[in-house]
Amino acid sequence: MRRLLIGGNWKMHKGIRETREFAKRLLKKELNISNIDVFVTPPFTSIPAAIEEFAGSRVTIGAQNMFWEEDGAYTGEISPVFLKELGVEWVIIGHSERRRIFGEMDKDLRKKIKMALHSRLKVVICIGETEEEREEKREKEVVEKQLKDSLFGIELDPERISIAYEPLWAIGTGKTAEPTDAEEMHRAIRGLLGEKGEEIRIIYGGSVKPHNAEELLKQDNIDGALIGGSSLDPEVFAEIIEIAGRVSC
Ligand code: PEP
Repeated sequence: MRRLLIGGNWKMHKGIRETREFAKRLLKKELNISNIDVFVTPPFTSIPAAIEEFAGSRVTIGAQNMFWEEDGAYTGEISPVFLKELGVEWVIIGHSERRRIFGEMDKDLRKKIKMALHSRLKVVICIGETEEEREEKREKEVVEKQLKDSLFGIELDPERISIAYEPLWAIGTGKTAEPTDAEEMHRAIRGLLGEKGEEIRIIYGGSVKPHNAEELLKQDNIDGALIGGSSLDPEVFAEIIEIAGRVSC
């Protein structure tokens, strides 16, 4: 039985003050999230504030990126050891913005995934096709190659590895994949994961909002959501969490 996983990716939003305010407003909602897993990924500098504010709650904290070494001469990078030291549980690896804007390649992501697992972090690996690749009907081929180059060959521990299918054309655009199309892709991804496939959580990302969350989360192979824009407002994020809680009952 796969528990639903809801992650909020804040990207480069929310300094320390806004992080504290967000946490207070979300916790005021007294959400019943005992049957799902929830995390948020603030910017690095806001992580300590988030850890402090969410301490004792069921909302856990993730990072949006990390480096593949534990320390060394890597100016501007963040070590997984430092993240663990803060109390970070999750790390997003290979978000499409990291790939597109910062040129991260699957071979780099493979090193990051290995190091994250070595550091006992839980990893959410992002994959997904561009609009052009979908128009050319190459979406399955594209995600298969992303998985092959970044993940295959690494032991798949369902407690530590989740996959976020995030079609690029749906991220921050307001366009969402049709739940049945997303379901089809999730099923295909699960099929590629071999014997551990049934246990690995495959979450969907791409303009998830309160109005479309239920339909997406009800699909058999959609095990949660990675949420950008709608995770920035605590009331909106809470609505999606509540929907996830209901769906998983
Ligand atoms: C994301 O950035 O991972 C994302 C899914 O963003 P949005 O929800 O804003 O589309």
